[in-house]
Amino acid sequence: ILQFSKLRLTGFKSFVDPTELVIADGLTGVVGPNGCGKSNLLEALRWVMGENRPKAMRGGGMEDVIFAGASTRPARNYAEVALLIDNAQRLAPAAFNSQDLLEVTRRITRDVGSAYKANGKETRARDIQMLFADASTGAHSPALVRQGQISELINAKPKARRRILEEAAGISGLYQRRHEAELK
Ligand code: ATP
Ligand code: MG
Repeated sequence: ILQFSKLRLTGFKSFVDPTELVIADGLTGVVGPNGCGKSNLLEALRWVMGENRPKAMRGGGMEDVIFAGASTRPARNYAEVALLIDNAQRLAPAAFNSQDLLEVTRRITRDVGSAYKANGKETRARDIQMLFADASTGAHSPALVRQGQISELINAKPKARRRILEEAAGISGLYQRRHEAELK
């Protein structure tokens, strides 16, 4: 599993000024008053890993992640998120495995779109998505617990709850494959 060490945001949603979040080992929780940007941080993490559904970013279009301006600050033209990964153990896939630190960045510019880099080198979206999919993290990873997901789990009917837990345990693919085998 890849060890995330830092998240840097610039112009992403409410984080208009450069902001750095240190991610320590183990479980990370984000706390703070309503509207302070907790969900935006989690969205930034999904976004830099290649999330491409505006809805998952609570927006109508992908450019809605760019700081839209406030009464005292003009809007920005781009948003950038960098994810720093501690790769001292060399666990990254071969194409990304040359250094102790792996830095993945994604930038979106108005009317231009998104561009990704890995250690400063331009990289295709698909390759970034694969990097994280291989590492069982990724934009859709059950390791990222969305707001409301805990109450969904508590209030779910037993069958649905089992499905959520199986998804988190990473065994749902197993059932899918067994089902396919039985149909053959
Ligand atoms: P809660 O405790 O209610 O869940 P939260 O800490 O999760 O709150 P967020 O939803 O992350 O808060 O942040 C919401 C804030 O982000 C709002 O003030 C909203 O206006 C601001 N915001 C979202 N998108 C943008 C944007 N593109 N530009 C500027 N501000 C934005
Ligand atoms: Mg929230």
